[in-house]
Amino acid sequence: MSKIGFIGLGNMGLPMAINLVKAGHEIHGFDLVPSAIEAAKAADIDVYESAAEAVNDADLIVTMLPNGKIVLSVFEEIIPAAKAGAVIIDSSTIDVSSAKKAHELAEASGLGCLDAPVSGGVGGAEAGTLTFMVGGSKDSFAKAEEALNIMGGKLVHCGAGGAGQSAKICNNMLLGISMIGACEAFSLAEKLGLDQQSLFDVVSTSSGSCWSVNTYCPVPGIGPQSPADNDYKPGFAAALMLKDLKLSQQAADESNMATPMGKHAADLYQAMVDGDGADTDFSGMINFLQNMKRG
Ligand code: NAD
Repeated sequence: MSKIGFIGLGNMGLPMAINLVKAGHEIHGFDLVPSAIEAAKAADIDVYESAAEAVNDADLIVTMLPNGKIVLSVFEEIIPAAKAGAVIIDSSTIDVSSAKKAHELAEASGLGCLDAPVSGGVGGAEAGTLTFMVGGSKDSFAKAEEALNIMGGKLVHCGAGGAGQSAKICNNMLLGISMIGACEAFSLAEKLGLDQQSLFDVVSTSSGSCWSVNTYCPVPGIGPQSPADNDYKPGFAAALMLKDLKLSQQAADESNMATPMGKHAADLYQAMVDGDGADTDFSGMINFLQNMKRG
């Protein structure tokens, strides 16, 4: 059994921490929000008054927070309090620059650090089937592997510090682009009088096949069960897709890489979110597109 500090017990963090408790670990948690603290107490998580107190005798520390600025401020607080040899796993989705800065802060104090964002959403967090994309040293990865395997179903050690966040935003940029492509194809097919099931049967076994069609088809009643079959309730909300697309564009700016499709995808999700689509599943892009005028 290890002592694990867990900072950020929200929609994702709480079920991840609960899986660690169920596996026999002692979780020392902290969150700013009273409702999160109450839910954590109900799940046998020992809750502390501050992030520093939650981590001070922990072997591992997990942070699951909204953005890079908050992650860095929490790192500033917990690093002086952490015990020698501890490894901090940041599983938040944040910008690559902040992730690299977090590694620098931890390593300057002799602590291990991993950027380990996840794919799989709240359902994956609850089921312990998340995919972790991990950046950091082999030594830190080895120390964290058992806990990561409890919270996740698949671990990919992608490389040095920042590699996990890089993998996450490249994957999600591709996902955003491919979902818009799937929505356009099914919408055009409908206008052409082509049966949606016929298009699915062709695309899902042809060169246009992709996860956005085969697994998560944006048309109700077509393909495996998906948010389209549940009135586009998330799933993965359009606001979260927009967050990740913006991170991809920040990384593209910082590395001077042209990603015109990623930029266009970000603009389209921004427009969907600026309408009334923020809390709609990202596959609800199909309805947004069908209401757009052809320019
Ligand atoms: P959330 O808002 O539900 O949880 C974040 C928690 O952090 C909140 O409970 C908040 O009170 C807490 N927090 C904020 N500042 C804090 C601080 N200074 N100290 C302690 N606690 C603090 O968000 P979430 O859905 O759990 O997402 C967490 C991260 O996971 C985000 O980076 C998100 O992009 C990423 N993510 C989310 C999903 C998803 O489906 N929700 C999927 C993949 C990745």
